[in-house]
Amino acid sequence: MLKPCANLERVKQYHPPLSGRSGLRLDFNENTEGCSPRVLERLRSLTSEELARYPEREPVERAVAQWLALSPEEVMLTNGVDEAIHLLCETYLQTDAEAIIAVPTFGMYEVAASATGATVKAVAAEGFRFPAGGIMAQVTPRTRLIAIANPNNPTGAVAAREELLAIADAANEAAILIDEAYFDFYGESLIGEISRRANLFVARTFSKAYGLAGLRAGVLAGPARQMQFVRRIASPYNVNGVALACLPSALADREYVTAYVEAVRRGRDRLQAELAALGMPFWPSHANFVLVRFGPARENFISAMRQRGILVRDRNSDPGCGGCVRITIGTEAHTDRLIAALREYAQQRRGAEVPA
Ligand code: PMP
Repeated sequence: MLKPCANLERVKQYHPPLSGRSGLRLDFNENTEGCSPRVLERLRSLTSEELARYPEREPVERAVAQWLALSPEEVMLTNGVDEAIHLLCETYLQTDAEAIIAVPTFGMYEVAASATGATVKAVAAEGFRFPAGGIMAQVTPRTRLIAIANPNNPTGAVAAREELLAIADAANEAAILIDEAYFDFYGESLIGEISRRANLFVARTFSKAYGLAGLRAGVLAGPARQMQFVRRIASPYNVNGVALACLPSALADREYVTAYVEAVRRGRDRLQAELAALGMPFWPSHANFVLVRFGPARENFISAMRQRGILVRDRNSDPGCGGCVRITIGTEAHTDRLIAALREYAQQRRGAEVPA
């Protein structure tokens, strides 16, 4: 009988709830408004001749490298950060290797790492504080990959720059992936350290602030020497031609992204102030979402929001996230709608608690 690789028996499928997502989508940390109109314009101008051609990644890769102030050898465009994670795992992990992740975190690190047969060591965050000490304590001569989302998903918490660099120095035989998918909403980056560290990689995405999750475009940046190996296993056509055609327009419209990010930051302050006023515990976030603990009322909250046409994401089964729901922050108008729904929900709960 045909059998898949034995490693796959241990791999948990990452199956996000994508169906039936109608309403205000505050469940996947997407841009709630959509991409820049300049991108749409470019998309509409595509010709059948352009679609008939195999896509050429390098010219756009060079433009992205320049935008990041890196050399083209240090930069690779990927099919979203998801592919960057896969490529790094395939480049550095195998059966006798170890990967370290800090949980709770983005689910694809574990999926991609365990698929290689490597052992995945999960270090629990301390009250959602980044467990730098715990990670260091797990480093062994077999450690080949440490994947860290900064800001982290689903908590929105960040690690200090010094902590991340200390880990990169301590585990110098491991690839250190700093996943900066939410960089735009935070503003601090380790990308400038790449040329000074032989094992440091940074990933960025166009799926969040740029509103292009459907196009699937991400960036993996790393030491030129190492990127040569990563490139060997990638398909030369990993990023589709539509995405490659549109990326320069996305990069050119700085004002669009800046305005969106500012709206999200204001919304984050407003939402956090509101949650505090309503007595709903949350973790202060540096990303475009906030993780809120509802405890046993979690399911009730999720369905109350759904009734109001607002989708939020259940994170109850993430390690340490019992009773938690993650809420994406979008435009000002979307935050208004969210806050109105939260107030209504809180009022109804208070009403329901009054004895008859
Ligand atoms: N990294 C993190 C931390 C994420 O939260 C996500 C999306 N949920 C991704 C990567 C995936 O990004 P992309 O759409 O670029 O594959």
